[in-house]
Amino acid sequence: MKQVVAVIGHPIGHTMSPVMHNAAFEAAGIDGAYLAFDVLAGELEKAIKGAQALGFLGLNITIPHKIAALEYCEPDTLATDIGAVNTIVFREGAHGYNTDALGALQSLKRAKVRVENRKVLVLGAGGAARAIAHALVHEGASVVVANRTRERAEELCEHIRAEGAGLEGIASLVQDCDVLINATSVGMGKSESLVRGEWLHEGQVVFDIVYSPPRTQLLKVAEDAGAKTIDGVAMLVHQGAEAFRLWTGVEAPVDVMEEAVRRTLGQS
Ligand code: NAP
Repeated sequence: MKQVVAVIGHPIGHTMSPVMHNAAFEAAGIDGAYLAFDVLAGELEKAIKGAQALGFLGLNITIPHKIAALEYCEPDTLATDIGAVNTIVFREGAHGYNTDALGALQSLKRAKVRVENRKVLVLGAGGAARAIAHALVHEGASVVVANRTRERAEELCEHIRAEGAGLEGIASLVQDCDVLINATSVGMGKSESLVRGEWLHEGQVVFDIVYSPPRTQLLKVAEDAGAKTIDGVAMLVHQGAEAFRLWTGVEAPVDVMEEAVRRTLGQS
């Protein structure tokens, strides 16, 4: 019988996950199908329980449901600590995970970027920033979270050993960090950036988790400034690879997934 997985979110039109996971199913020789469903907040519980009742292998949960989904599954310790679920596995129940944290760490690791004892500036305090900040603190980084709505950054940092800030001092925070991670949605689909090129310098690492376009305005100015850059496709693929492994028990064909995403985004 076909193994079915789906992503649920709202809006869901631009998701890359079906392209990435259907390529992975094919390469791994699994008779699977990955679908996308637009689900409104009021329908979340029914959607999760319905997928479970229909025998789906699992789900990905995306904006705006990652926090609310905690209520409708049994989250593991990491997802509980982060306060958000992006992957559910239906195996003797509904088990919740957060693979965004691992996806970000894997992207840094693959680029040979060490974060232990280094100053990392995370821009944003939404769902993705929460997962990333949590993972970085766990890895021993010295983390500052700066967000447009300062209270959200401060609230996030009440739960982890990190410093919360607003964006008013962004220039000096950027100049002073070793690794800069954009975890806001600024740059998604538009040529805009919160960071100016003159604040960046050689020797820094700039990681933009926005993946569409893969080469964001931030990454362009970072390259011009001589910084090392990592794009959001890397994180998308690594968080997806971990979810694939959780659903199927099979190691994900990471290269195939990355190629499928980059081809769809017009990068290869
Ligand atoms: P989210 O929970 O909605 O958070 C959005 C964040 O962006 C908030 O911190 C928000 O600040 C900030 N922001 C939005 N517009 C802004 C602006 N004009 N100026 C300054 N800050 C602004 O979203 P999310 O789930 O964290 O996702 C954030 C981005 O990461 C999205 O583009 C998403 O596609 C991408 N993402 C990529 C991956 C990947 O695997 N590559 C994984 C997850 C997410 P306020 O708090 O002030 O509103």
